[in-house]
Amino acid sequence: MNEQHAHLRIESQLAQIGSLEEPVTGAISFPIYQSTAFRHPRLGQSTGFDYARTKSPTRKVLEDAIAGLESGDAGFACSSGMAALQTIFALFSQGDHLIVSLDLYGGTYRLLEKIMSRFGVTATYVDTNDLDALESSCNPNTKAVLIETPTNPLMMITDLELVCGWAKKKGILSIVDNTLLTPFFQRPIELGADIVIHSATKYLGGHNDVLAGLIVTKGNELSEQMAFLHNSIGAVLSPQDSWLLVRGMKTLAIRMERHQHNAAQVANFLLQHPQVESVYYPGLESHPGYEIQKRQSSGNTGIFSFKLRDARYVEPILRHIKLIAFAESLGGVESLMTYPAVQTHADIPEEIRRQIGVDHRLLRYSVGIEHADDLIADLARAIDLAHAEIEGA
Ligand SMILES: *Cc1c(COP(=O)(O)O)cnc(C)c1O
Repeated sequence: MNEQHAHLRIESQLAQIGSLEEPVTGAISFPIYQSTAFRHPRLGQSTGFDYARTKSPTRKVLEDAIAGLESGDAGFACSSGMAALQTIFALFSQGDHLIVSLDLYGGTYRLLEKIMSRFGVTATYVDTNDLDALESSCNPNTKAVLIETPTNPLMMITDLELVCGWAKKKGILSIVDNTLLTPFFQRPIELGADIVIHSATKYLGGHNDVLAGLIVTKGNELSEQMAFLHNSIGAVLSPQDSWLLVRGMKTLAIRMERHQHNAAQVANFLLQHPQVESVYYPGLESHPGYEIQKRQSSGNTGIFSFKLRDARYVEPILRHIKLIAFAESLGGVESLMTYPAVQTHADIPEEIRRQIGVDHRLLRYSVGIEHADDLIADLARAIDLAHAEIEGA
């Protein structure tokens, strides 16, 4: 973040990312610096840029912006959310143990169980809201707790202040995946977290057109360690994609407000629908995490899940939605619907999926910024057509 912008409200900071950073031409949109090499003025001197894997001007604008937005000390842009998680996991060594949210992004589970486990880093999956469960899974070799809140897809809420405070007492790191809320609605570092990670592919990018991950660290030692890992591993974001992400983030505030508005409308529609058994949306007062969510964040995400009464409806609903695309991502301006049990969460064993409730009646809906009435009409029509097929059969 440019120091001249540090006192501004978050909407203004977002809109102005990079706008003061280009001193030569005064470009409002910070340019894409494609160069991988930078001339040294003399032996022992540097412009601050040497080689693009280590530091690159367009990427630096993005990294400084996310560090400021998340109230951290340093930001790191990676080639995907998974690359960001892999870079963070490189903090740990053989024999180390992590405590991880039970309801978890499937790719994170896969990285831990199929890859990190081969390097001797193990994980225990617990409900991170249950302090007894946290306490009993914390061993002398436990190094960190990794929290998603809300979780994906079941939207379970963790009290960040409570759990980050617990982690601090235990002397372990707290890492928060803030993909679903973004710093516009929730800033985990202000609640005690040490590291924030984003799949910036989702809300931060916001247009289903750039794959990216971001890391923010708090504290000098951790920031230096992460800079070392980011440069050594090299899964860094390209200048073009850094620019595209900055461009997306400028409109984050108005997009999040619209996502939130639309999600509430559609969730309320589904809540009253006879074919729907339950709606998992933290913006509903009936949601078990409603109070905590209200206290620790300033708004709700645009994604939620819902459970149908009858699994036979899933296939025809996914076939009949038209405006809403049957596709596997979230956080973009276009509405997408996915079927977690066979898509995003297919790598999580059936036993764990059942335990947390990701079953064959659950659909996840990333509500876009279209008009809410059009989205409700599309969904109502698809459910009616599914109903007619099933009843007629
Ligand atoms: C998508 C996602 C990831 C992985 O990010 P990619 O950009 O797809 O690599 C990690 N965590 C959460 C919560 C996600 O939704």
